[in-house]
Amino acid sequence: MIYKNEKLSKYSWFNLGGPAEIFFKPNSIDELKDFLLKSKNKNNNIFVLGAGSNTLFRDSGFDGIIIKLGKGFTETKLLESNKIQVGAATLDKKLADFACQNSLSGFEFLSCIPGSIGGAITMNSGCYDSDISKIFVSLEAINFEGKIKTFTKDEIKFFYRGNNLNNKLIILSVTLQGKPGEKYQIAKKQESLLKRKKEEQPSRIKTCGSTFKNPVNKKAWELIKVSNCSNLIVGGASVSKHHCNFFLNNGKASSADIEKLIEKVREKVFLKTGTNLELEIKIVGAKKV
Ligand SMILES: Cc1cc2nc3c(=O)[nH]c(=O)nc-3n(C[C@H](O)[C@H](O)[C@H](O)COP(=O)(O)OP(=O)(O)OC[C@H]3O[C@@H](n4cnc5c(N)ncnc54)[C@H](O)[C@@H]3O)c2cc1C
Repeated sequence: MIYKNEKLSKYSWFNLGGPAEIFFKPNSIDELKDFLLKSKNKNNNIFVLGAGSNTLFRDSGFDGIIIKLGKGFTETKLLESNKIQVGAATLDKKLADFACQNSLSGFEFLSCIPGSIGGAITMNSGCYDSDISKIFVSLEAINFEGKIKTFTKDEIKFFYRGNNLNNKLIILSVTLQGKPGEKYQIAKKQESLLKRKKEEQPSRIKTCGSTFKNPVNKKAWELIKVSNCSNLIVGGASVSKHHCNFFLNNGKASSADIEKLIEKVREKVFLKTGTNLELEIKIVGAKKV
């Protein structure tokens, strides 16, 4: 499906962002490949979107192509040797539940992350001492010229909230490996992680989770707190009372409000602590001057 001038606010957890010139939602590899080959001259302006739980789209929208993998990329298959092959558009929670149903442990942390598997690989997402690199085996991706390649564990370097893959790739499917476990114990662990997450972080709000990465041996939220940013508000954007590294759209924010809040917090933290906070969320689109 190709849409023109599609509102991106519908696809970001911030519920913000202007229109995309072209928004493409393929349902098969063939459809995707065909589209990439036909739009070759525009290939340097593509953004691949997962569940939008880590992406702020600017108010001006995106003057290029947004590709969001459709339902055809949500197949989940159990393989031998405790492995699961999962489509990149599958939600992390769905995979955690699938692993639990099949008595495989190691996937429990994914139940706490609201993104897709493609997003989890790009961000090396994780929580509570786990991240996706720890269960990663291989992935299949297509480049913007339509060529498909498999990458194994040895060919990718994962680091805190990222990896060294070229960003002109669309991850199609991922193979992950767990360990055999007791279904009941796996479900219990998932439940306790979810409970902990609910206590520590806000839920049911318009946010993209942690705004900044944790600097080495420091916690971004602690630096934000000691820099007196906990009550900062810019227009309709504010710092969460529950977790001060989460920034919120209170319903009336613009993307510019969120960005101004980000800059304000970054400046105050630098002046107070000397630490330059690095963004975890991705900001997409042209900045208005
Ligand atoms: C309430 C809340 C709690 C959160 N808690 C956590 C947490 O505990 N731990 C954590 O690590 N994160 C957390 N996050 C952040 C976010 O959920 C993760 O970064 C998540 O993995 C992003 O996945 P997504 O599909 O939403 O990615 P998107 O926001 O859609 O995209 C993020 C990046 O991934 C790329 N991408 C997505 N899919 C593909 C693909 N198929 N191929 C190539 N590139 C792709 C995008 O281009 C972009 O660069 C939280 C967010 C929220 C809103």
